[in-house]
Amino acid sequence: MSTLTYFQTRSRMLKASGRCTRCGSMPLAAWNRSMCAYCLRRMKLAARARRVERARRGVCRNHGDRPAVAGRRSCQACLDADLAYKQVRWRALDAAGKCRDHPAVAAVEGKTRCVACIMSGR
Ligand SMILES: [Zn+2]
Ligand SMILES: [Zn+2]
Ligand SMILES: [Zn+2]
Repeated sequence: MSTLTYFQTRSRMLKASGRCTRCGSMPLAAWNRSMCAYCLRRMKLAARARRVERARRGVCRNHGDRPAVAGRRSCQACLDADLAYKQVRWRALDAAGKCRDHPAVAAVEGKTRCVACIMSGR
């Protein structure tokens, strides 16, 4: 049995019994179905510390081994992926006639933003 399978089985069992899949001793947090509030908080703090540390070193926030693009916090690959994601999103919003920044608001006729966005100079 591989280690991975062991942990997968273990976390599935813990999840089924309503226990945190990380520490196994605390009940699950109400808003998360795999970890307790304590472990979730620790994970969040660790993630934030990692982001701060990576920004300080000037590397990508997602890839600690790649340099960040000057003035940004991500590497070129992440920026490209980000832009590709945004463009798909924008295309869908444009087609639906919605503001690119406020998907719930209709865009001004012939524009890609709502009145509020255009008024604020965006
Ligand atoms: Zn836990
Ligand atoms: Zn990256
Ligand atoms: Zn808007």
